[in-house]
Amino acid sequence: MPAEPGAVNSPSAKRLTVLSGPSGVGKSTVVDAIRRDHPDVWLSVSATTRPPRPGEREGVQYHFVSDEEFDRLIAEDELLEWAEFAGNRYGTPRAPVSERIAAGVPVLLEIELQGARQVRDSMPEALHVFLAPPSWEELVRRLTGRGTEPDEVIQRRLEAARTELAAEKEFDTTLVNTSVRDVCDELLALIRAPKV
Ligand code: ADP
Ligand code: 5GP
Repeated sequence: MPAEPGAVNSPSAKRLTVLSGPSGVGKSTVVDAIRRDHPDVWLSVSATTRPPRPGEREGVQYHFVSDEEFDRLIAEDELLEWAEFAGNRYGTPRAPVSERIAAGVPVLLEIELQGARQVRDSMPEALHVFLAPPSWEELVRRLTGRGTEPDEVIQRRLEAARTELAAEKEFDTTLVNTSVRDVCDELLALIRAPKV
């Protein structure tokens, strides 16, 4: 069947890219670089119940909310997806994503595996990209070296990482984060490519 005229460029969930991968692989680093250098890509700002890390700002990396506020967001169906991860909750506000997609703006979500699965169910046209570490040892080094979590939280994140790594084949494509610059270039090419 011939494609609908203009289908590739029509504003639709085809402009949505989901970036996922184990904690410590470098997702935030890649997203920060895209935020800095490529303002044409819109980065969804998630709500989270985790406290801010040094340098994180309200409304930039996250909306930092209380448990009660997160309960309200769920109850009022304001989240496109949400999940509990290593003791905190994280979710994607639905309205800003829908608005950008309707306007034809490329949208990038950086979320963990359970949320990525929810998006695949509700928006099957989205492109799912898995960010993989060069090796398990390097992942442990990055997560530990970041120095932002106590040992107990690092252990929980490493346990989750085993599950996330085992799910790589659920994704449309994998990028290995050896060089942040290379990964950004590859990711931007995927985000900008017409998705068919
Ligand atoms: P995530 O958001 O996936 O949990 P981060 O972006 O916080 O991971 O990165 C974890 C640590 O790894 C940080 O200290 C970051 O500076 C470092 N890092 C990220 N990408 C690379 C890379 N390509 N090479 C070396 N270190 C990296
Ligand atoms: P961190 O606490 O390291 O910032 O994030 C922990 C995990 O939560 C990461 O894997 C990150 O991708 C994920 N995450 C961030 N925002 C969201 C979100 O809105 N929804 C889901 N499901 N995961 C998120």
